Amino acid sequence: MTETLRFIPLGGLNEVGMNCAALVCDGTMIVIDCGIGFTNEVGAELVHPDFGWLVDRRESLRAIVITHGHEDHIGALPYLLKDLRAPIYAPPYAAALIEDRLREHRLKNIDLRVSPAGSRIEVGPISVERFGVHHSIADATGLILDTPVGTLVHTGDFKIEAEPCEGQRFDRARLEEVGRQGVRLLLSDSTGAEVEGRSRLERDAEAALEAQIARAAHRVVVATFSSNAFRLRAALRIAREQGRRVCLLGMSVKKHTETAQQLGLIPPVDSLLVAPEEVDALPRSEVLILAGGTQGEASSSLTRLAREEHSRVHLEAGDTVIFSSRIIPGNELPVLDVINRFERRGLEVITRQQHPEVHASGHGSREEQRTMIQLLQPRAFVPVHGTHHHQRRHMELAREEGIPETQLLDNGSVLEVTRDAIRLVGRVQVGRVYIDGMKPLSAELMAQRRSMGSGGLLTVLLMLQGGRLRERPRIVSSGVFEARERRRTEERVAEHVRNALKGRHFVAPEDAEDAAIEAARRFLMHNQRRRPLIMADANGES
Ligand SMILES: [Zn+2]
Ligand SMILES: [Zn+2]
Repeated sequence: MTETLRFIPLGGLNEVGMNCAALVCDGTMIVIDCGIGFTNEVGAELVHPDFGWLVDRRESLRAIVITHGHEDHIGALPYLLKDLRAPIYAPPYAAALIEDRLREHRLKNIDLRVSPAGSRIEVGPISVERFGVHHSIADATGLILDTPVGTLVHTGDFKIEAEPCEGQRFDRARLEEVGRQGVRLLLSDSTGAEVEGRSRLERDAEAALEAQIARAAHRVVVATFSSNAFRLRAALRIAREQGRRVCLLGMSVKKHTETAQQLGLIPPVDSLLVAPEEVDALPRSEVLILAGGTQGEASSSLTRLAREEHSRVHLEAGDTVIFSSRIIPGNELPVLDVINRFERRGLEVITRQQHPEVHASGHGSREEQRTMIQLLQPRAFVPVHGTHHHQRRHMELAREEGIPETQLLDNGSVLEVTRDAIRLVGRVQVGRVYIDGMKPLSAELMAQRRSMGSGGLLTVLLMLQGGRLRERPRIVSSGVFEARERRRTEERVAEHVRNALKGRHFVAPEDAEDAAIEAARRFLMHNQRRRPLIMADANGES
């Protein structure tokens, strides 16, 4: 019998975030990454892939292998672990973050095993070896999967730095060796497929940050992705060298600084730190504030500083805010609002738009993607981690490099890999699950939140007696009508519902409720052109 292997992405393709894929071979399943995505949906905080398909097959799941600690690779683990258990293998920095997450969700007795770059595990017929890659988080890895159909390489998220900074590791020699031995299939990060050339070096972004901080006469706020310990380390070093004390603002910046110190990525910084309430007492030229929340998030420290709503830290004209970050597509307006609020008050704002040098992406551009393909010389190439357009551009690059077999995938695609061929052999059920307050929301509840969020809520209260309407219904609404017209319009709705239900006999109260909802819906649609979420409640005996 010819050996076969199946690769099935459950999230992360044709969307940003939610990376998760299953690898199935000879009755053994491995899950690679388990991430969340962010959402602008009303009433939801997060979204993760629907794990129904995985849960149905949990008997064959032998390992969950995490490539690195970004939320789009680890954030959904607590939700998956509510329905199944399997050993989780993660590099040190990711493992520390996962431990935190599990504690937050009160998940106990989870088998979490630390496996750094260079380590190898055996899972059924598959041997999983990790290699180090450069990325915007410490301990990022890719996977070399030795399988019965040949060697597969999954890059994880990566870039290739010509001059890496301390603690970054890219196992080029190992990849060259694997490439010489023959790679059956390369699965590679497509994020940077639109960007020509090479990505900016982390050390260059740090040098630019250093120059900008040196220029600032007063307080400096550095806003950055707090999961990038290299950038945090640089900001802390620069502050020390330029005689500034550092205020860590926000849970996430504090947490990551602590984790990075515990893992030896950042030297001890305690003597450098000041509490937020001590900032005002220091000369303005001797303060650097490290803040998270670069995306205009309503509750972030940076947004509260911009809105002058932070209880302990206040900025003034002449202070400088440096965004050492990029805007994640979709967040342009809230970020612009933060920038405008600072600028209107006379603060200097430095962003990547005018000063591209203050940030370096964690994802390699086209030339780095090309280098990966050249190092490994795979027989087959499948782009992952990106929208359809990014995957397509990445696939073109692989074809330019003469890779004979290429395939675009979608979430739910089943890719079969044999020694001779790769091909699509079907689809599995996929979907998305919205999360609020650390709990999943059913499709029904999400639909209610959407219509409430877009049209408001209107409730019809019915009093029944002997199955008939006893008096005129009462209407209570919120977010449907302008205040000055609310009472009057509610009266009109009540009148209309009464006319619709008058003289009718209802066997069950629910029948009266349904009729009232329908009557109110028609009236609001035709007379008012409004579509609120409508509820009804019948009291009294039927
Ligand atoms: Zn990443
Ligand atoms: Zn990612």
